[in-house]
Amino acid sequence: MKVSYWHNNRDIRIEEVPTPRPGPGEILVKVISCGICGSDIVEWYRLPRAPLIQGHEIGAQVVAAGDSVTKFKPGDRVFVAPKVPCMECSYCKEGHYPQCSEVKDRLPGGFAEYILVPESLVDKGAYLLPETLTYDQSTFIEPLACVVRAQRLAGVREGRTVFVAGCGMSGLLHVKLAKSRKCRVIATDINQYRLAFAKRVGADITIDAAEDVSRRLAEENIGKAGIVILCASALSAVEQAWKCVDKGGAVVFFAVPGPGKDVTVPINDFWTKEIRILTSYYCGPPDIEEAIKLIESGEIEVEDMITHRFGLEDIAKGFDLVLDGTRSIKVIIGPNDP
Ligand SMILES: [Zn+2]
Ligand SMILES: [Zn+2]
Repeated sequence: MKVSYWHNNRDIRIEEVPTPRPGPGEILVKVISCGICGSDIVEWYRLPRAPLIQGHEIGAQVVAAGDSVTKFKPGDRVFVAPKVPCMECSYCKEGHYPQCSEVKDRLPGGFAEYILVPESLVDKGAYLLPETLTYDQSTFIEPLACVVRAQRLAGVREGRTVFVAGCGMSGLLHVKLAKSRKCRVIATDINQYRLAFAKRVGADITIDAAEDVSRRLAEENIGKAGIVILCASALSAVEQAWKCVDKGGAVVFFAVPGPGKDVTVPINDFWTKEIRILTSYYCGPPDIEEAIKLIESGEIEVEDMITHRFGLEDIAKGFDLVLDGTRSIKVIIGPNDP
Protein backbone atom coordinates (compact mmCIF):
# COMPACT_ATOMS: atom_id res chain seq x y z
CA MET A 1 0.00 0.00 0.00
CA LYS A 2 1.01 3.60 -0.46
CA VAL A 3 1.69 5.82 2.54
CA SER A 4 3.05 9.34 2.83
CA TYR A 5 5.89 10.14 5.18
CA TRP A 6 5.98 13.74 6.38
CA HIS A 7 9.56 14.88 7.04
CA ASN A 8 8.62 18.56 7.16
CA ASN A 9 6.15 20.83 5.38
CA ARG A 10 8.28 20.95 2.24
CA ASP A 11 9.31 17.32 2.20
CA ILE A 12 6.56 14.70 2.03
CA ARG A 13 7.50 11.36 0.48
CA ILE A 14 5.20 8.70 -0.90
CA GLU A 15 6.43 5.23 -0.12
CA GLU A 16 5.28 1.69 -0.78
CA VAL A 17 5.00 -0.52 2.31
CA PRO A 18 3.43 -3.95 2.90
CA THR A 19 -0.31 -3.77 3.62
CA PRO A 20 -0.71 -4.97 7.20
CA ARG A 21 -3.01 -7.85 8.16
CA PRO A 22 -5.19 -7.54 11.24
CA GLY A 23 -4.24 -9.72 14.17
CA PRO A 24 -6.65 -10.73 16.95
CA GLY A 25 -8.75 -7.77 18.05
CA GLU A 26 -7.51 -5.49 15.24
CA ILE A 27 -9.22 -4.19 12.13
CA LEU A 28 -7.84 -2.99 8.81
CA VAL A 29 -9.58 0.07 7.39
CA LYS A 30 -9.38 1.65 3.96
CA VAL A 31 -9.03 5.43 4.22
CA ILE A 32 -11.57 7.11 1.95
CA SER A 33 -11.15 10.69 3.21
CA CYS A 34 -8.62 12.31 5.53
CA GLY A 35 -8.51 16.01 6.34
CA ILE A 36 -5.34 18.06 6.66
CA CYS A 37 -5.53 19.67 10.10
CA GLY A 38 -4.09 23.07 10.92
CA SER A 39 -1.95 21.32 13.53
CA ASP A 40 -0.42 19.04 10.85
CA ILE A 41 1.56 21.97 9.48
CA VAL A 42 2.82 23.22 12.87
CA GLU A 43 6.42 22.10 12.60
CA TRP A 44 7.51 22.81 16.19
CA TYR A 45 4.71 20.51 17.32
CA ARG A 46 5.15 17.71 14.75
CA LEU A 47 8.88 17.65 13.93
CA PRO A 48 10.00 15.86 17.13
CA ARG A 49 8.18 12.74 15.84
CA ALA A 50 9.14 13.06 12.16
CA PRO A 51 9.30 11.34 9.80
CA LEU A 52 5.74 10.30 10.42
CA ILE A 53 2.54 9.41 8.64
CA GLN A 54 0.18 12.26 9.52
CA GLY A 55 -3.59 12.48 9.25
CA HIS A 56 -6.00 12.10 12.18
CA GLU A 57 -9.27 13.31 10.66
CA ILE A 58 -10.51 10.22 8.90
CA GLY A 59 -13.50 8.64 7.25
CA ALA A 60 -12.76 4.97 6.52
CA GLN A 61 -14.24 1.63 5.59
CA VAL A 62 -13.48 -1.64 7.37
CA VAL A 63 -11.95 -4.13 4.93
CA ALA A 64 -10.83 -6.90 7.30
CA ALA A 65 -11.37 -7.80 10.93
CA GLY A 66 -9.11 -9.96 13.04
CA ASP A 67 -10.19 -12.91 15.18
CA SER A 68 -12.40 -12.04 18.14
CA VAL A 69 -13.59 -8.75 16.65
CA THR A 70 -17.36 -8.68 16.99
CA LYS A 71 -18.02 -4.96 16.93
CA PHE A 72 -17.14 -4.39 13.26
CA LYS A 73 -17.30 -6.29 9.99
CA PRO A 74 -15.97 -5.64 6.50
CA GLY A 75 -18.00 -2.94 4.76
CA ASP A 76 -18.70 -0.95 7.94
CA ARG A 77 -18.09 2.78 7.64
CA VAL A 78 -16.16 4.20 10.58
CA PHE A 79 -14.45 7.13 12.24
CA VAL A 80 -11.52 6.23 14.50
CA ALA A 81 -10.17 8.62 17.13
CA PRO A 82 -6.38 9.20 17.08
CA LYS A 83 -6.11 7.88 20.66
CA VAL A 84 -8.40 6.89 23.54
CA PRO A 85 -8.21 7.80 27.19
CA CYS A 86 -8.48 5.07 29.84
CA MET A 87 -11.46 6.73 31.56
CA GLU A 88 -10.11 5.49 34.91
CA CYS A 89 -7.01 7.49 35.85
CA SER A 90 -7.29 10.61 37.99
CA TYR A 91 -7.15 12.89 34.91
CA CYS A 92 -9.91 11.01 33.11
CA LYS A 93 -12.06 11.00 36.23
CA GLU A 94 -11.83 14.79 36.29
CA GLY A 95 -12.77 15.00 32.61
CA HIS A 96 -9.25 15.93 31.51
CA TYR A 97 -9.27 13.14 28.90
CA PRO A 98 -6.49 14.69 26.79
CA GLN A 99 -4.21 14.43 29.86
CA CYS A 100 -4.80 10.70 30.39
CA SER A 101 -1.63 9.09 31.68
CA GLU A 102 -2.54 5.62 30.44
CA VAL A 103 -2.91 6.08 26.68
CA LYS A 104 -1.78 2.81 25.10
CA ASP A 105 -1.87 3.25 21.36
CA ARG A 106 -1.97 5.95 18.76
CA LEU A 107 -3.79 5.44 15.50
CA PRO A 108 -1.34 5.23 12.60
CA GLY A 109 -1.77 8.21 10.27
CA GLY A 110 -4.54 8.47 7.72
CA PHE A 111 -2.49 9.79 4.82
CA ALA A 112 -2.12 6.16 3.76
CA GLU A 113 -4.26 3.78 1.74
CA TYR A 114 -4.95 1.59 4.77
CA ILE A 115 -4.68 1.83 8.55
CA LEU A 116 -4.24 -1.06 10.95
CA VAL A 117 -6.38 -0.09 13.95
CA PRO A 118 -4.95 -1.36 17.27
CA GLU A 119 -7.20 -3.38 19.58
CA SER A 120 -7.62 -0.65 22.22
CA LEU A 121 -8.88 1.73 19.56
CA VAL A 122 -11.19 -0.87 18.02
CA ASP A 123 -12.72 -1.33 21.48
CA LYS A 124 -13.08 2.26 22.58
CA GLY A 125 -12.04 4.68 19.83
CA ALA A 126 -13.86 3.46 16.72
CA TYR A 127 -17.34 4.72 15.88
CA LEU A 128 -19.76 3.35 13.32
CA LEU A 129 -20.80 6.25 11.09
CA PRO A 130 -24.53 6.97 11.02
CA GLU A 131 -25.98 6.04 7.61
CA THR A 132 -26.45 9.61 6.47
CA LEU A 133 -22.98 10.79 7.48
CA THR A 134 -20.52 10.82 4.57
CA TYR A 135 -16.81 9.99 4.66
CA ASP A 136 -16.05 13.65 3.99
CA GLN A 137 -18.26 14.73 6.90
CA SER A 138 -16.48 12.18 9.06
CA THR A 139 -13.23 14.14 8.64
CA PHE A 140 -14.83 16.95 10.66
CA ILE A 141 -15.74 14.81 13.67
CA GLU A 142 -12.40 15.23 15.46
CA PRO A 143 -11.95 18.96 14.78
CA LEU A 144 -15.55 19.70 15.75
CA ALA A 145 -15.15 17.63 18.93
CA CYS A 146 -12.19 19.84 19.92
CA VAL A 147 -14.36 22.91 19.32
CA VAL A 148 -17.26 21.44 21.32
CA ARG A 149 -14.93 20.83 24.24
CA ALA A 150 -13.39 24.31 24.19
CA GLN A 151 -16.79 26.00 24.12
CA ARG A 152 -18.05 23.82 26.94
CA LEU A 153 -15.02 24.68 29.10
CA ALA A 154 -15.52 28.37 28.32
CA GLY A 155 -19.24 28.33 29.12
CA VAL A 156 -20.56 29.31 25.68
CA ARG A 157 -24.34 29.46 25.87
CA GLU A 158 -27.32 31.32 24.48
CA GLY A 159 -27.13 35.08 24.54
CA ARG A 160 -23.40 35.45 25.04
CA THR A 161 -21.13 37.45 22.78
CA VAL A 162 -18.35 35.26 21.41
CA PHE A 163 -15.30 36.73 19.67
CA VAL A 164 -13.43 34.28 17.44
CA ALA A 165 -9.94 35.49 16.52
CA GLY A 166 -8.72 33.67 13.40
CA CYS A 167 -11.03 32.15 10.78
CA GLY A 168 -9.22 29.08 9.55
CA MET A 169 -11.09 25.80 9.65
CA SER A 170 -11.22 25.64 13.47
CA GLY A 171 -12.19 29.28 13.82
CA LEU A 172 -15.04 28.78 11.36
CA LEU A 173 -16.24 25.72 13.28
CA HIS A 174 -16.23 27.91 16.41
CA VAL A 175 -18.31 30.52 14.57
CA LYS A 176 -20.80 27.88 13.43
CA LEU A 177 -21.12 26.22 16.84
CA ALA A 178 -21.50 29.52 18.71
CA LYS A 179 -24.18 30.59 16.21
CA SER A 180 -26.04 27.30 16.64
CA ARG A 181 -25.96 28.03 20.38
CA LYS A 182 -27.63 31.39 19.67
CA CYS A 183 -24.69 33.60 20.54
CA ARG A 184 -23.75 36.88 18.93
CA VAL A 185 -20.51 36.19 17.05
CA ILE A 186 -17.65 38.53 16.19
CA ALA A 187 -14.95 37.13 13.89
CA THR A 188 -11.59 38.55 12.90
CA ASP A 189 -8.86 37.54 10.47
CA ILE A 190 -6.21 39.30 8.43
CA ASN A 191 -7.33 37.43 5.32
CA GLN A 192 -10.38 38.74 3.46
CA TYR A 193 -11.22 35.38 1.88
CA ARG A 194 -11.55 33.76 5.30
CA LEU A 195 -13.38 36.76 6.70
CA ALA A 196 -15.94 36.59 3.91
CA PHE A 197 -16.33 32.89 4.66
CA ALA A 198 -16.97 33.68 8.34
CA LYS A 199 -19.66 36.14 7.34
CA ARG A 200 -21.25 33.57 5.04
CA VAL A 201 -21.40 30.92 7.77
CA GLY A 202 -23.08 33.22 10.23
CA ALA A 203 -20.68 35.62 11.96
CA ASP A 204 -22.68 38.73 12.91
CA ILE A 205 -19.72 41.09 12.75
CA THR A 206 -16.49 40.52 10.84
CA ILE A 207 -13.50 42.81 11.34
CA ASP A 208 -10.10 42.88 9.65
CA ALA A 209 -7.66 41.86 12.39
CA ALA A 210 -5.26 44.56 11.22
CA GLU A 211 -7.71 47.16 12.52
CA ASP A 212 -8.04 48.39 16.08
CA VAL A 213 -10.63 45.75 16.94
CA SER A 214 -11.57 46.92 20.44
CA ARG A 215 -12.17 50.43 19.09
CA ARG A 216 -14.34 49.11 16.27
CA LEU A 217 -16.40 47.16 18.80
CA ALA A 218 -16.84 50.30 20.89
CA GLU A 219 -17.75 52.41 17.85
CA GLU A 220 -20.35 49.93 16.73
CA ASN A 221 -21.82 49.75 20.23
CA ILE A 222 -21.03 46.08 20.58
CA GLY A 223 -18.90 46.54 23.63
CA LYS A 224 -16.80 43.68 24.87
CA ALA A 225 -17.08 39.92 24.39
CA GLY A 226 -17.96 37.51 27.19
CA ILE A 227 -15.81 34.86 25.56
CA VAL A 228 -12.80 35.30 23.31
CA ILE A 229 -11.54 32.22 21.49
CA LEU A 230 -8.03 32.47 20.07
CA CYS A 231 -7.70 30.44 16.87
CA ALA A 232 -4.71 32.39 15.62
CA SER A 233 -1.10 32.14 16.73
CA ALA A 234 -0.18 35.82 16.23
CA LEU A 235 0.81 37.64 19.41
CA SER A 236 -1.23 40.61 18.16
CA ALA A 237 -4.36 38.44 18.42
CA VAL A 238 -3.58 37.82 22.10
CA GLU A 239 -3.26 41.56 22.69
CA GLN A 240 -6.65 42.06 21.05
CA ALA A 241 -8.14 39.33 23.21
CA TRP A 242 -6.97 41.11 26.38
CA LYS A 243 -8.59 44.33 25.19
CA CYS A 244 -11.86 42.84 23.98
CA VAL A 245 -12.80 40.48 26.80
CA ASP A 246 -15.58 41.63 29.10
CA LYS A 247 -15.68 41.61 32.91
CA GLY A 248 -16.44 38.13 34.19
CA GLY A 249 -15.45 36.76 30.80
CA ALA A 250 -12.97 34.22 29.53
CA VAL A 251 -10.14 34.05 27.01
CA VAL A 252 -9.60 30.60 25.54
CA PHE A 253 -6.28 29.64 24.00
CA PHE A 254 -7.45 27.20 21.34
CA ALA A 255 -4.28 28.00 19.38
CA VAL A 256 -1.02 29.18 20.94
CA PRO A 257 1.76 31.50 19.77
CA GLY A 258 4.43 28.75 19.77
CA PRO A 259 7.68 28.05 21.62
CA GLY A 260 9.64 31.01 22.88
CA LYS A 261 6.70 33.35 22.47
CA ASP A 262 5.51 34.06 25.97
CA VAL A 263 2.54 36.28 26.53
CA THR A 264 2.21 39.00 29.13
CA VAL A 265 -1.04 38.86 31.05
CA PRO A 266 -2.52 42.08 32.50
CA ILE A 267 -3.30 40.07 35.59
CA ASN A 268 -3.95 42.95 37.99
CA ASP A 269 -6.65 44.27 35.70
CA PHE A 270 -8.06 40.77 35.17
CA TRP A 271 -8.10 40.11 38.92
CA THR A 272 -10.55 42.86 39.66
CA LYS A 273 -12.57 42.04 36.54
CA GLU A 274 -12.63 38.30 37.29
CA ILE A 275 -11.47 37.34 33.82
CA ARG A 276 -10.50 33.71 33.28
CA ILE A 277 -7.78 32.47 30.96
CA LEU A 278 -8.11 28.90 29.78
CA THR A 279 -6.45 26.50 27.42
CA SER A 280 -8.21 23.77 25.50
CA TYR A 281 -6.29 21.00 23.82
CA TYR A 282 -7.80 18.12 21.87
CA CYS A 283 -11.07 16.42 22.94
CA GLY A 284 -12.56 13.45 24.77
CA PRO A 285 -15.08 10.67 24.02
CA PRO A 286 -18.17 12.70 25.08
CA ASP A 287 -17.10 15.50 22.71
CA ILE A 288 -16.69 13.04 19.83
CA GLU A 289 -20.16 11.66 20.44
CA GLU A 290 -21.62 15.16 20.50
CA ALA A 291 -19.77 16.15 17.31
CA ILE A 292 -21.19 13.12 15.48
CA LYS A 293 -24.71 14.12 16.56
CA LEU A 294 -24.22 17.75 15.54
CA ILE A 295 -23.06 16.75 12.06
CA GLU A 296 -25.62 13.97 11.60
CA SER A 297 -28.52 16.23 12.59
CA GLY A 298 -27.35 18.96 10.23
CA GLU A 299 -27.11 21.40 13.12
CA ILE A 300 -23.54 22.03 12.08
CA GLU A 301 -23.03 21.96 8.33
CA VAL A 302 -19.47 21.05 7.44
CA GLU A 303 -19.27 20.10 3.78
CA ASP A 304 -19.53 23.74 2.71
CA MET A 305 -16.04 24.19 4.12
CA ILE A 306 -14.37 21.67 1.81
CA THR A 307 -12.49 23.64 -0.82
CA HIS A 308 -10.04 21.06 -2.17
CA ARG A 309 -9.51 17.33 -2.57
CA PHE A 310 -6.35 15.59 -3.73
CA GLY A 311 -5.15 12.02 -4.18
CA LEU A 312 -2.23 10.81 -2.05
CA GLU A 313 0.31 11.49 -4.83
CA ASP A 314 -0.64 15.17 -4.67
CA ILE A 315 -0.59 15.51 -0.89
CA ALA A 316 2.22 18.10 -1.11
CA LYS A 317 -0.13 20.39 -3.04
CA GLY A 318 -2.62 20.05 -0.20
CA PHE A 319 -0.03 20.94 2.43
CA ASP A 320 1.08 23.94 0.33
CA LEU A 321 -2.50 25.22 0.26
CA VAL A 322 -2.96 24.82 4.01
CA LEU A 323 0.40 26.51 4.64
CA ASP A 324 -0.56 29.40 2.40
CA GLY A 325 -3.90 29.66 4.18
CA THR A 326 -5.37 32.30 1.90
CA ARG A 327 -7.07 30.21 -0.78
CA SER A 328 -8.45 27.19 1.05
CA ILE A 329 -10.50 26.28 4.09
CA LYS A 330 -10.64 22.51 4.31
CA VAL A 331 -8.34 20.32 2.24
CA ILE A 332 -9.13 16.63 2.08
CA ILE A 333 -6.86 13.84 0.90
CA GLY A 334 -8.43 10.76 -0.67
CA PRO A 335 -5.65 8.16 -0.38
CA ASN A 336 -7.61 5.67 -2.51
CA ASP A 337 -8.83 8.16 -5.11
CA PRO A 338 -8.02 6.98 -8.65
ZN1 LIG B 1 -7.04 18.00 13.92
ZN1 LIG C 1 -6.97 8.13 31.87
